[in-house]
Amino acid sequence: MSPALHLTGIDAATRAPIDLYFDGARVVGTGETTDSVIPVISVDGYVLPGFVDAHCHIGYSMSGAVGIGEAERQARRNLAAGVLVIRDCGSPLDTSALAGRDDLPVLIRAGQHIARPKRYIRDLSVDLDDPADLVAEVTRQAARGTGWVKLVGDWIDRSIGDLAPLWPDDVLAEAIAAAHDAGARVTAHVFGEDALPGLLAAGIDCIEHGTGLTDETIREMVCRRTHLVPTMINIANFPQFADAADRYPAYAKHMRDLHARSDETFGKAVDAGIPVHAGTDAGGYIEHGRIVDEIIALTRTGMDRRAVLRAAGHDARTWLGEPAYSRADALVFADDPAEDLERLRRPLAVIRAGRIVAGSHRDNGDGGDDGPHHGPGPGIRLA
Ligand SMILES: [Zn+2]
Repeated sequence: MSPALHLTGIDAATRAPIDLYFDGARVVGTGETTDSVIPVISVDGYVLPGFVDAHCHIGYSMSGAVGIGEAERQARRNLAAGVLVIRDCGSPLDTSALAGRDDLPVLIRAGQHIARPKRYIRDLSVDLDDPADLVAEVTRQAARGTGWVKLVGDWIDRSIGDLAPLWPDDVLAEAIAAAHDAGARVTAHVFGEDALPGLLAAGIDCIEHGTGLTDETIREMVCRRTHLVPTMINIANFPQFADAADRYPAYAKHMRDLHARSDETFGKAVDAGIPVHAGTDAGGYIEHGRIVDEIIALTRTGMDRRAVLRAAGHDARTWLGEPAYSRADALVFADDPAEDLERLRRPLAVIRAGRIVAGSHRDNGDGGDDGPHHGPGPGIRLA
């Protein structure tokens, strides 16, 4: 039987005091613990509920689709970086075997991306010849995933040489309503301006990337409480995408313009009150495990450091139906990470389902600063 864990300290995002008992994956109220649970590991420090990577792709890499073994390694790389919940934003691989496991991040899955022929990255999406088939396909993918459906909202249309929407507005309205009827939320990849009004009017729940947001579509997202996952470390690749598209100068210019004003666009979205979350877009052009880079990038929107930590943790968890600490998950730091976000790269302990699964305290067995110790202050004490 694994030892219980007594977690104390201060929540680095909310400043709330933390005093929690984890008995395996069970969170036990402090009042009811004394008789039933004898904590044998005490962990104290600056605490966070763990990061949510709100836009991640488990099951493919820079070289294309991977098998389930590599997909599991991808999930582990995210876990070691402090990601305790992943919202998988579309994968060609059936990753259901990796869901519901206490040794991996909580995995919330969209099915496979839904696109049209030649209108997305090759081999990743289900491509529909007839856009009217979207309604039936959304229902199919809602059944394949666990709560989310992923649409490709816009992509380069080579016949016009620029970004363009994939779906007619009336089809979107019907498809998103069908997903909601099936109990799933819908999100869409959108780089440009033109696909946004139709997606928002159709009642989409979240926008991925959103570089084409305007004052008008920002207002619409605020009214509809639509969330935004900007994937800022992937937006940094836009100039590269433009360089690779020299046959399509209008597209290349469009991508460079969207990139040039992206910090300002996301800043306006934050100022307007749109809920924004941290998503790396790991899988295609981004390596897995880069959540801290995305969290640091989000400060460029003007959010202060504690607000960014809440957005990437508490708020994202609530949004996804996984409230903070409800799964006996936490990250613990020796020093306040809100004072210096670089500290997020070195958690003392990554706790998943009541067990310490990673963290710097394991780096050395010499009883140094990060090792188990018996003095006062942040650290891990073995009773
Ligand atoms: Zn993506």
